[in-house]
Amino acid sequence: MAPPAALPVEARGLTDTSPITLPGPILATSSHTHAVFGVPDVQPHRECCPPLPRGVAAFASSEMFKSPANKAKPKARRWDARLSRESAARKKSSLKGAAAYLKIPGIISLGGGLPSPEYFPFESVSVRVPVAPAFTEDETGHTGATLSTGRYDVRQGASVYDLSIAMNYGQATGAAQLLRFVTEHTEIVHAPRYADWECCLTTGSTSALEMAMRMFLEPGDWILTEEYTFSSALETAGPLGARVCGVGMDGEGLLPKELDRVLSDWDAEKRGRKPVLLYTVPTGQNPTGATQSLARRKAVMEVCERHDLLVIEDDPYFFLQMEEYVSPEERGLGEVNGTTSATTNGTAATNGHRGGQHPATLSPKFKPTSVHAFLSALTPSLLSLDPHGRVLRLDSFSKIIAPGSRTGWITAPAQLIERFVRHSEVSTQNPSGLSQVVLFKLLDEEWGHEGFLQWLMFIRAEYSRRRDVIVAAAERHLPRHLCIWNPVRAGMFFWIRIDWRRHPLAATLGPGGEPRCGPPPSALEIEERIFHTAIANGVLCSRGSWFRAQKGSDSEVFLRLTFAAASEEQIVEGVGRLADAVRREFELD
Ligand code: PMP
Repeated sequence: MAPPAALPVEARGLTDTSPITLPGPILATSSHTHAVFGVPDVQPHRECCPPLPRGVAAFASSEMFKSPANKAKPKARRWDARLSRESAARKKSSLKGAAAYLKIPGIISLGGGLPSPEYFPFESVSVRVPVAPAFTEDETGHTGATLSTGRYDVRQGASVYDLSIAMNYGQATGAAQLLRFVTEHTEIVHAPRYADWECCLTTGSTSALEMAMRMFLEPGDWILTEEYTFSSALETAGPLGARVCGVGMDGEGLLPKELDRVLSDWDAEKRGRKPVLLYTVPTGQNPTGATQSLARRKAVMEVCERHDLLVIEDDPYFFLQMEEYVSPEERGLGEVNGTTSATTNGTAATNGHRGGQHPATLSPKFKPTSVHAFLSALTPSLLSLDPHGRVLRLDSFSKIIAPGSRTGWITAPAQLIERFVRHSEVSTQNPSGLSQVVLFKLLDEEWGHEGFLQWLMFIRAEYSRRRDVIVAAAERHLPRHLCIWNPVRAGMFFWIRIDWRRHPLAATLGPGGEPRCGPPPSALEIEERIFHTAIANGVLCSRGSWFRAQKGSDSEVFLRLTFAAASEEQIVEGVGRLADAVRREFELD
């Protein structure tokens, strides 16, 4: 809620997270229950909270930063009975626990092994960043800001976070300064429906996923996933001794009816304990690019309720939800820019440029609009549909800021965050202090929540244009009777099914009508051929079978292309080369 206009506000903050002076507490004492915690609520709420813990390794919890509206919500269910033996056995770290005494005024610490900041060879660190909403590289060159953090900024009153804190050991929840921002962001975006949700910083979703799986899986247990899923999830579950049960999908991702069928028909005697855990990537799924609609998400959650599943919602592409794809023709622009059609003899790889896409045929460039409108247009997360705390949501800065930050966060009921924190204490500890302080400077001190959400709009607009490029290139170059795809609505991946049964080697009769000898090749063999022909033609794609939950059960051939990294020209050229490779493999010329 914004402060009432009549209130005499003394000073304006530079961002929605920089302090302003208000005449009195608004949110905490207001009898009005906030259904939604919005960006304008952040600063008044901060004013009412106890001061941010600022010491080295200071204890912090999301509970300190959530809005009071959460207190009115029901608590999450208890999940203790679901914990693996390993997770249940974790004990508090004696050393991390001792840090609580550091806040006693005047105490002299001879206890912990925290080095003295004077021995950190870092006096200050500076980064140059874009100023919202001028986010492009060019704009950053002209109007960017240099953010600096010094060794003793806190002591000198220049900031609430500095290198003496960030570069020392910290708590496993992450530094209070960044945890506060992430907690507020989670409440603004996902508004969890139960009272006792909390966040904990992670060293990215890869590590958080491994830790989350170990919280619930015993060797021999089954985990449910989409039938094609993020390969690292498979490579994590396997060595834990878990077995993966892939569930059927369509263009909208996981099929709730299939999920229900698998669980209803589960034969525990033959297969072992009925699965208790679902791993799903609901938005811009890796590898298929599929995005669950709201109706689909609700149906998935209903099945999870019915069969009492815990859910790991791995959602790094949440903010890369795009507008529907509109082809250049539908935009009324037809063929543009002298685009060449793909050659059929495989020589295009050396032929050079295949023509780019006219900018007018792409989704509009980023223009800052209302943050509220942006958020309202996003399909809500599973976390926000979950009244019982069965969803462990994984967020990551990797796809929306930078993967090298190795920083993300998990959101779940406090009881599960507590177990997660115990695990972090003896493994990752917390994300790198350098990452945390740089993210804090950028997100909290420079952009604020509004600036960060504007950045997310910018990133989304950029990926929308890349998506347009890859889909238009596919439409233009790929043989439609062999290659089937859906224009993606989120993420970074483009998933193509190749009708491998039309491959000349899969035909039962030879070119002269004579029966072929020997067994027909499998889908995997054809996939391998296409993969290598594509490489020989100068383009690398990922093979669908790498992502297959039930290894070796492939009956179709898929390729995954990403539009994240290559330039627009390279995307067009790459798709053209793939088209040539497919034509060559299928002897189309
Ligand atoms: N989950 C999914 C679904 C991903 O696609 C990726 C990146 N490819 C990750 C997790 C990894 O995230 P992070 O960099 O945070 O470890």
